Amino acid sequence: MKKNIKYFIVVLILGTMFIPLSKTQATTLKEYEDAVEKYTAELQEKENQIASNEAEIEEIKQKIVSISNQIFQTETEIDNLEQEIEQSNQEIAQKGEESKSIMEYYQLANGDNAYLEYAFGAETITDMIYRASIVEQLTEYNDQIMKELETLIETNEQKTKELATKKEELAQLEKDLETEKAKIEEENAAIEETVPTVKEQIRVYQEQVDYWKAKGCTSNDILGVTCAVPPKVDTGNNGSISIDIIGANGFRLPMNKGYLTQGYSGKNGHMGVDFGSSNKSEEIYPVASGQVIYVGHDSYGANVVKIVHNVNGTLIFSTYAHMRAVYLKKGQIVTTSTLLGLMGSTGWSTGPHLHLEMTTCDWTYNCTYATYKNSLVNPFSYIPYATRWG
Ligand SMILES: [Zn+2]
Repeated sequence: MKKNIKYFIVVLILGTMFIPLSKTQATTLKEYEDAVEKYTAELQEKENQIASNEAEIEEIKQKIVSISNQIFQTETEIDNLEQEIEQSNQEIAQKGEESKSIMEYYQLANGDNAYLEYAFGAETITDMIYRASIVEQLTEYNDQIMKELETLIETNEQKTKELATKKEELAQLEKDLETEKAKIEEENAAIEETVPTVKEQIRVYQEQVDYWKAKGCTSNDILGVTCAVPPKVDTGNNGSISIDIIGANGFRLPMNKGYLTQGYSGKNGHMGVDFGSSNKSEEIYPVASGQVIYVGHDSYGANVVKIVHNVNGTLIFSTYAHMRAVYLKKGQIVTTSTLLGLMGSTGWSTGPHLHLEMTTCDWTYNCTYATYKNSLVNPFSYIPYATRWG
């Protein structure tokens, strides 16, 4: 009885001195609700951005189709002009031949004087002038046509050049649009990649909201404190637990007897503390009352149990590894006298021991593994410090 009074006084003194390490964890239901709202808004924003990018991509695609059509039209125009040039060239050659034939007709076919004979065969002066001019007119007419055709060729060649330039510009524009489209598509893919993570955040926080609401908590309740209060810590009704393994804050050493084999050295070293015991199957107990959030294995096959504790509104997590037997189920409410399992050497272990890790968040519950590592605390910040006991 005296012991109990003493203990009560120590609790009072240390209780006021105890400062929670960091508050990365929600303490009220509202914080979880806010998180759901925040990630839902983020998801909405991402979905809007994706939709807007998709609309932009569609617009660019249509522009590209239109430009492709313009390129095709330009190519057709160039082909037509080239054909026209070819045709004009042929006509020029033909007219040249014709002029030559007219001259040859008078000079060769009908003899050297045929032209003169034809001209002077006229009955009147008027007729003579007329006859002489007919021949000239015929050749002049051809010359005129040839000149016109040459002008047409020049014009067409100029047009062809202009169209070639236009085609090049269109091709460049098409290329630029393709680049822009690829860029937006890439941006969209990057956003889409982050969507599952946000959805997962919503799911995780929504699960918390649902869980605590089902337990009757309302927005401004402090979880596990003003609502869903876990059973009181059993501080020693069990005669086998001696008072010196229970700390002032209700945390206890995880075994009734044991010794420290390796201390804590942080996230880049030994992430927890190791305990051994003369009894190779020593019973393991939760370091504080709480709820089991994980029962499984690590990647080396070690049995792993994780428990969440609520310390004055701040959640603290404890992880127990290497046990040869586990007696708890996920979701189970535990006290410091609930048998958790038996010490063992499962997984990456050189002999029977308990590896105990403590954090302010847990990767199976509310944070990533990287955040988990950054939230590691020295278990001796909570459990009583002892190198050998029991
Ligand atoms: Zn260890």
